[in-house]
Amino acid sequence: MLNIVIFGPPGAGKGTQSKMIIEKYKLMHLSTGDILRAEMAKKTPLGMEAKNLIEKGDLVPDEIVNKMMKKKIEENADQRGFIFDGFPRTPEQAEALDKMLAEIGSGISVMISLEVDEQELIDRLLKRAEIEGRKDDNIETIKNRINVYNEVTSRVMNHYKKTGRSRSVSGTGSIEEIFERICRVIDDFA
Ligand code: AMP
Repeated sequence: MLNIVIFGPPGAGKGTQSKMIIEKYKLMHLSTGDILRAEMAKKTPLGMEAKNLIEKGDLVPDEIVNKMMKKKIEENADQRGFIFDGFPRTPEQAEALDKMLAEIGSGISVMISLEVDEQELIDRLLKRAEIEGRKDDNIETIKNRINVYNEVTSRVMNHYKKTGRSRSVSGTGSIEEIFERICRVIDDFA
């Protein structure tokens, strides 16, 4: 399997690039944010529990997202591979993900971190708010999400650095330029 973690702060372009990666490499896209928003729209107990946290820009507890992802991975173990978008966001989630993949005889091939400076992230997210109307794309929540990334999520990178499976890629430039940089990394690890 080819399993990729696409990593980076909110607004780095993980979702946009994931869509292009799954087309080219025929992988399955697993975005915890998308799954949680779908649960919220359906007003499931999980969605209702996550709603307040998401709207404040705080993280949903590890047990909830881990369980959600374990189910998706087990149900789709016959895929060519996965692209994990927005997960793992804590070192504990990263360890849990290694276990989930080990259970299906697989593991993470590479973690690709998209690097974008903070003002650019804020500008992109405010622009996205006008287009998509996501409730957590407002200035107060955006700042909290970037803080959560800097304080907690960025530590996930160490998990993959330890085994030499992390690569940084500049997330500025045209969507196509960024995609080319990402493909070069993937092809090195595939
Ligand atoms: P995203 O679409 O990836 O920006 O995620 C939107 C929000 O969903 C985040 O700000 C968190 O509140 C929640 N969320 C998404 N993925 C995770 C995760 N792996 N762990 C905890 N919370 C998450």
